[in-house]
Amino acid sequence: MADLKLKDVHKSYGAVEVINGVSLEIEDGEFVVFVGPSGCGKSTLLRMIAGLEDITGGELWIGDRYCNDMEPRDRGIAMVFQSYALYPHMTVYDNVGFGLKLAHTPKDERDRRVRDAARILQMEHLLDRKPGQLSGGQRQRVAIGRAIVRNPEVFLFDEPLSNLDAALRVEMRMELSKLHQRLQATMIYVTHDQVEAMTLADKIVVLNGGVVQQVGQPMDLYHRPANLFVAGFIGSPKMNFIEVTVDRAGQDRIVVSGQGIDALAVPGIGARVGKGDVLTLGIRPQNLVVDPEGKIHGTVGLTERLGAETIVSLDLPSGKTWLVVLVGDHDIAIGQKLSLALEGDNATLFGPDGQSLTTGVPVSGNKDMHHAAV
Ligand code: ADP
Ligand code: MG
Repeated sequence: MADLKLKDVHKSYGAVEVINGVSLEIEDGEFVVFVGPSGCGKSTLLRMIAGLEDITGGELWIGDRYCNDMEPRDRGIAMVFQSYALYPHMTVYDNVGFGLKLAHTPKDERDRRVRDAARILQMEHLLDRKPGQLSGGQRQRVAIGRAIVRNPEVFLFDEPLSNLDAALRVEMRMELSKLHQRLQATMIYVTHDQVEAMTLADKIVVLNGGVVQQVGQPMDLYHRPANLFVAGFIGSPKMNFIEVTVDRAGQDRIVVSGQGIDALAVPGIGARVGKGDVLTLGIRPQNLVVDPEGKIHGTVGLTERLGAETIVSLDLPSGKTWLVVLVGDHDIAIGQKLSLALEGDNATLFGPDGQSLTTGVPVSGNKDMHHAAV
């Protein structure tokens, strides 16, 4: 087991900088997920930790070892890729044990470790099969088995479930969670899928354009997104946004108005804004309720009645369309005018720079908060 430290890590390909100064601490035994849109640098960052890419600038520490120039095989890591990269002519048993064989691990030790991994992954009955006789999920399990037998200090996963169908992804996600609980190993997991990130991670690192946007526990990011990017990326359906103007800035309340927003009071740090400032208001679809006295007004464009919830698409006067997720079944006519209120204090204001004004959370993770919550 080991912790990791990245200090101002940079990566350039020629003149193009793809990782732009990432600093990060990963605790021993933590399950950390790097999430962000395609091309944001997740794989590059993971491959630098693995030693498959040179580090252009900054420092990488695994445990108390400085690793920038260390050979991949000496780093105590094992990596699982999206493409399983199994040897088609070898059995599952030989595929899982191949790395140990190359490392000249004695035969009975090798046998013990392969069978241990097979038991953990519930694939003892598959050991004699060849990859061609396995389903996608089973192949991915073999690839994970190959990582487990090496008994690494840190597991690295690069979108390991992306090739699986949706149902299998959910199942494998739960298995990975159990595996982490069982092995208590440090795991770093890359995905573009925010749901995977939310369900697997102790700590999420949101990346965009090679820059860390926010680090935190899943619920920190959901309830207290540091900026517009994180607010829009985490949560489904996406957070609704609209431009508003400040009417009044009080101690802990800011009253804002916009097209279809009529003097709505939202939590905020009053001192940082003044009357007339133009801000962005963000409200999650689940944080709106129908209320004749509500301050948000629009016209119903479409409804989806799913029984347990009703999804309303609401056209605001500005031409924006918001999504509203109402609990329960509601028979709401299309074309009807609807007024909505905020549920609780669940709204976020963002300044012209896109940073949240509501939460005041730092952009980096807060270790003390993490411990307090476990
Ligand atoms: P992600 O895994 O988040 O989708 P990557 O880390 O693969 O993103 O890529 C980050 C950026 O670096 C992309 O813009 C990609 O085009 C670029 N990139 C990756 N590998 C190379 C390379 N070998 N040469 C030049 N550019 C690269
Ligand atoms: Mg990638």
